[in-house]
Amino acid sequence: MFLDKLNTENINTPSSKEQFRIVLKKAAELKGLNESDAVVLMNNADQELNEELFALARQVKETIYGNRLVIFAPLYVSNLCANECSYCAFRVKNHTVKRRALSQKEISEEIKILTSQGHKRVLLVAGESYPDQGFRYILDSLDTIYRVKTDKSGEIRRINVNIAPLGIDEFKELKLAKIGTYQLFQETYHRQTYSAVHTAGKKADFHWRISALDRAFQAGISDAGIGVLFGLYNWKYEILALLAHIKYLENKFGIGPHTISVPRLEPAAGSDLSVSPPYPVSDHDFCRIVAILRLAVPYTGIIMSTRETARLRRETFAMGVSQISAGSRTNPGGYANSAEAGAEQFSLGDHRLLDEVIRDIVLLGYLPSFCTGCYRLGRVGADFMDLAKPGEIRTHCTPNGLSTFMEYLLDFASPETRLKGETLVAKTLSGLTGRSLERSMKLLQRVKNGERDVYC
Ligand code: SAM
Ligand code: SF4
Repeated sequence: MFLDKLNTENINTPSSKEQFRIVLKKAAELKGLNESDAVVLMNNADQELNEELFALARQVKETIYGNRLVIFAPLYVSNLCANECSYCAFRVKNHTVKRRALSQKEISEEIKILTSQGHKRVLLVAGESYPDQGFRYILDSLDTIYRVKTDKSGEIRRINVNIAPLGIDEFKELKLAKIGTYQLFQETYHRQTYSAVHTAGKKADFHWRISALDRAFQAGISDAGIGVLFGLYNWKYEILALLAHIKYLENKFGIGPHTISVPRLEPAAGSDLSVSPPYPVSDHDFCRIVAILRLAVPYTGIIMSTRETARLRRETFAMGVSQISAGSRTNPGGYANSAEAGAEQFSLGDHRLLDEVIRDIVLLGYLPSFCTGCYRLGRVGADFMDLAKPGEIRTHCTPNGLSTFMEYLLDFASPETRLKGETLVAKTLSGLTGRSLERSMKLLQRVKNGERDVYC
């Protein structure tokens, strides 16, 4: 097991200015960093050096991802759960939470609301216990979501899922149901902490969880998302273990994760632990985590959820975040009935609706992207990385980002957002040359002529 070989000897050894700058120089080559490099970056409190770290992370983000930010919304279909995770409101022994699994009709209503706001990507989320149909419930839900079509270009074009680990045969079924990314957070890589916070249910089995992505890859799923729930254990240990997990997957399957999520513990009803995290991560360290990950795995997307406040989200966008959720609700049925309290998974830091988030992002100079092109054209897993590493992916992402944003502006945006968005589109175009410019102009023209869902 890769964790057995993890070297944590120097995890708190202070690094010198020289060592720090040597690692930054290496990171600037965009080939990633190993665990000992990460230790050097984690162990220097000199503010000047950390500013250099943040500046380089900004530069790497700009080189690889440009000014794009991919937008999605979570869809909580059920909060039924048989596990006892001491940080989560959905844990089985929490009797204060209202239990609910949405019917297919209710799922369809939720999706109608999201698509009428302009969303094109959702992340389906569920607790680990399904209604009578068992795992079929998830497959039916995926089918329901893809079937919804609303006015204009209202439809979901990519569903990522965050559900409990499956066996290989179930993963195969998930792949057949046309999921985008299968996302699973290890929560903590530290075994003792893992056992202490997962006390009942299938999730208490550390090995079943840590081997889940192996089974997903064996089943043919090639886009996987990983993550750590920060606040449960020492973040430095978690980063090292996460990097070791990525290296292990790359060595074994030839592909690493498509995305990394960086959730921090948020207060959840019925969870004392979530209110006083044993290893709280400060905002400053959180920014360092994002910057170090950006340099260590430059081609892997980083996802920031609405757990964080608008202010912190803005800071981390610049340093490497490539995907964000917007307008989220964490209770099943929360889009249709946002006033209904008592069924949420945790409290949110950013409560704004999609249009407001989009306007804010645009004013900061980021291009909101609703693109689902790579996944639709089969550019996933190793094929995606082959395009991403030489920088070729940008000549697809920017045109697709622009065309899907233009769809949003024409079909869903408020007049104010549309005005600001069109200015950003013009500004982005003025900075493009060659193939990116040519493809962007063509796609934008097709959208303006009334075509929808165009991508390259
Ligand atoms: N039930 C599945 C599981 O646990 O893997 C998937 C859904 S679970 C709702 C998704 C994620 O929510 C968990 O992996 C965990 O990291 C996160 N989560 C749970 N409680 C949280 C809290 N209080 N604050 C922030 N994130 C939390
Ligand atoms: Fe259930 Fe997942 Fe919450 Fe644990 S984190 S209680 S498995 S929903």
